[in-house]
Amino acid sequence: MILCSDSRVQMESFDFTPENDIFTVRNIGNQIATTPGSVEYGINHLNTPVLFIVGHSGCGAVNAAYGDYSKESPDIQKELNTIQIKSAPDVKAAILLNINNQVDAALKKFDDKIKSERLTVVGGVYDFRDDYERGDGRFIITNLNGETDPQKIEASPLFKKIKEAHIGVASVHKQEKQKTN
Ligand SMILES: [Zn+2]
Repeated sequence: MILCSDSRVQMESFDFTPENDIFTVRNIGNQIATTPGSVEYGINHLNTPVLFIVGHSGCGAVNAAYGDYSKESPDIQKELNTIQIKSAPDVKAAILLNINNQVDAALKKFDDKIKSERLTVVGGVYDFRDDYERGDGRFIITNLNGETDPQKIEASPLFKKIKEAHIGVASVHKQEKQKTN
């Protein structure tokens, strides 16, 4: 799973028991380009069957990359340069475009594994503040192995498998919390 470093995005929103379950790579803007070795390690050495690339609402890194970041330090600029979203109409769309770009990069990088169905790449946005109007705390799948049409994604047998993986249980988690409080 590739996640943004943002403090509002934490593993417990995706999995109650991530130990021994989810190999996680975190960086600003949930990218492959800035941590390719870590991503490759998870895929090729641990044989992870699903690569989740998770963007999120209100992403500061995407917001920065969308604007003028020439006054940032060279190291920060370097990690923003690889978020290529300037063609998006606004930041909300740029967040989705960044996810699609990352999925595309993964499709190229792990082409053999995807073709032989040993790896599925899933892109989505963790929308903790309902920017995309599907409900607070939703993980909305926006890309499945390069497919971005929501109807085609839903019809895919891979989608059914992913739903069974219990990813995106934040709202359930909230209910459980309320019960125990
Ligand atoms: Zn972010």
